[in-house]
Amino acid sequence: MPAIFSQPPDPLAPLGERDGVRGFRKASKLAMRYVGLAGNPNCGKTTVFNALTGLRAKVGNYPGVTVERKEGRLTGRPKNSPIAVLDLPGTYSLSPQSLDEQISRDILFHRVREVPPLDLVVVVVDGSNLQRNLYLATQIIELGYPVVVALNMIDVAAEHGHEIDAAGLSKQLGVPVVPMIASKEQGLPELRALIIRTVLQQIDLVRPAASQKQFCEFPPAFEAEVQRLSELLKAKFPTAKFQARSEAFLLLSDDRFRSSSASHYPSAVLEEVTSARQRLERGQIDWRSIGIETRYAAIAEIERTVTKSPSHRRESFSDKLDKVLTHRVWGVLIFLVLMLVIFQSIFTLARTPMDWIETGVDWLGASTIRLMPPGALTDLLAKGVIAGVGAVLVFLPQICLLFLFIGLLEDTGYMSRAAFLMDRLMSKVGLHGKSFIPMLSSFACAIPGIMATRTIESQKDRLATILIAPLMSCSARLPVYTVLIAACIPDKRVLGILSLPALTLLSMYLLGVMMALLMAWLLKKTLLKGPTPMMIMELPPYKRPLLGAVVRHMWDRSKLFIRRAGTIILGISILLWALATYPKDKALAAQSAAQREQIQSATLSQQDKQQRLAEIGKLEAGAKLRHSFAGRLGHFIEPAVQPLGFDWKIGVGIIASFASREVFVSTMSLVYNVGEMDKSQTTTKTLSEIMRAQVRPDGTPVYTTLTALALMVFYVFALQCVSTIAVVRRETNSWKWPVFQWLYMGSLAWLMAFAVFQGGKLFGFR
Ligand code: GDP
Ligand code: MG
Repeated sequence: MPAIFSQPPDPLAPLGERDGVRGFRKASKLAMRYVGLAGNPNCGKTTVFNALTGLRAKVGNYPGVTVERKEGRLTGRPKNSPIAVLDLPGTYSLSPQSLDEQISRDILFHRVREVPPLDLVVVVVDGSNLQRNLYLATQIIELGYPVVVALNMIDVAAEHGHEIDAAGLSKQLGVPVVPMIASKEQGLPELRALIIRTVLQQIDLVRPAASQKQFCEFPPAFEAEVQRLSELLKAKFPTAKFQARSEAFLLLSDDRFRSSSASHYPSAVLEEVTSARQRLERGQIDWRSIGIETRYAAIAEIERTVTKSPSHRRESFSDKLDKVLTHRVWGVLIFLVLMLVIFQSIFTLARTPMDWIETGVDWLGASTIRLMPPGALTDLLAKGVIAGVGAVLVFLPQICLLFLFIGLLEDTGYMSRAAFLMDRLMSKVGLHGKSFIPMLSSFACAIPGIMATRTIESQKDRLATILIAPLMSCSARLPVYTVLIAACIPDKRVLGILSLPALTLLSMYLLGVMMALLMAWLLKKTLLKGPTPMMIMELPPYKRPLLGAVVRHMWDRSKLFIRRAGTIILGISILLWALATYPKDKALAAQSAAQREQIQSATLSQQDKQQRLAEIGKLEAGAKLRHSFAGRLGHFIEPAVQPLGFDWKIGVGIIASFASREVFVSTMSLVYNVGEMDKSQTTTKTLSEIMRAQVRPDGTPVYTTLTALALMVFYVFALQCVSTIAVVRRETNSWKWPVFQWLYMGSLAWLMAFAVFQGGKLFGFR
């Protein structure tokens, strides 16, 4: 590695009294210092951030993950340094093209009130893409911040045959440059030491404007306008003097910069900009392109002097792989096979741990009944709490697997290829390939998916993507599908190797995707009319996934699922238990007791007696449920769900899962447990087995293949998730869109389930 510092990086040594910074103890009593991490999307900011702060944060590798504000304390020696690190959203330049970029720009210009002024900006630069990354780096340096450049991904650059002279780059940029491979923690100790030294040695936050480095040289006429506007800005914003020149330049030369911050400037400034532009136009100076062109010229020169490249670049492994994986035919085929394998594994690999959890839950429920005195409390614990929460927790292994696969796809770099493949499809429905990333995230959960839409530039496209994101089958639907598939889809093989259950599951996922595309097309034709955006997307190089990060990520997301089981689902389970248990029917209880007595005293064989008693128990339980609040509610909505092939008990399940879908499973287990279990029953059956045994009054089974399909289709489309509604409300800043979304998805759910059930019947299916 080449030498890079003008002075050797001896970590922390200069912090002593020698430097006039009086010892660390004293320093830590000073106010918190803020260090911002800026850089292009995918340059490795989050990786650097995690290493510097030791914070658990997600490591993904396509644009759209780092949309939230991330902040952490700088860790390492000395402990508790008063230095906070901020992970800014990825941005290509200071001319914002998306919400993400605008946030970064606003932070750098001190316009975000919650973020204090930065004492140091670490610009993370992707060394394998030097030219594009230096665009932002030079802009930030011109802003006048103390800057350290973290020259990342030098391993990838080397793979491409480029060697970067870090010392030379440091000289050209006028700031320290630390070469590093963040994913291997190389160069991070040096960066940490440099941050501490720079921040704590700094006396003035702002360097004198005279020493501010400028990379672009403009024609005198343009320069004069920049100066004039800059003086005006200094007068209007005296606290932001050091950034005035850059600001003036951006205001003059960039419509985006101006339009995205029009309300920030007094009208005198905006008028001055307009008249300056007119003067430039009269002087035949193209103010739109001059900034971009001169900057690129300057950067190209820098790049030329600091990189050594072999005369011919050999095709990297990534390139070769991409030829196949992004191929029109092979790529799509491989993508489909990959998906199939994933769904198949979700079924087969999860089976054993699911059995364990189920056995554990059963044992716990049975022990509770055995050990506690009979009564309402025991009933609540065994049937409400344990059975309800347990029924959902059983799906933890499947959900972990789903997240594991998604994490692996993201971390290997394959996810971006999938988005690239899908761009062809997406542009047919009028959306950008970028919209596919939120859609893919929504397979885990619609909430991160909807948050990821912040990287979409056009507001209409963003809205369209938000509206269709929840049509992707999220992990909460998985339990519903699994139970219904186990109950009603025969475990047959198709074409020898594919299992029918896995195929059914895959079809549900595909159904959601197809409807999403159709809806996007419709929305872009009607409510959200607008042009189809162009595809500009970069494919990060493939890499071996960091297994630790993937597993941690899987666990973090699975924990959310467990937390939901412990909170929302626990609450709903208790509520449902109460609704299914009360009010009690005294007359019925007395009648059943009398019948029991009659049988006991009759002259019958012991076996006959048992059988009769069990029958009475069943009838009584059924009548009890019908009499309860839940039963009445189910009956109330039965007319609405009957055309879909559902009975009132399924109606109870649908109502219960309005707040969150996975509650369906616990509700059904409650509904049937309450209806089925009596004390003579010692072995419990799985929910799917109980479902399979359900019959209608006329003796036909409730859960036929057709009913199960209709019910699954209902769950594919209905928006049954309060958290999603809340996030859409927040992201669109109005109730109009979440309400619209809830209504359109609900209508779709009903109509499609109706079509499946009635259509299936017409064709003679059951
Ligand atoms: P961000 O979008 O800037 O936050 O980028 P991330 O930190 O999420 O990194 C994007 C991807 O690049 C992740 O998969 C990282 O593991 C990977 N990565 C980060 N630094 C390096 C590096 O120096 N070399 C290589 N090969 N990969 C890196
Ligand atoms: Mg990031």
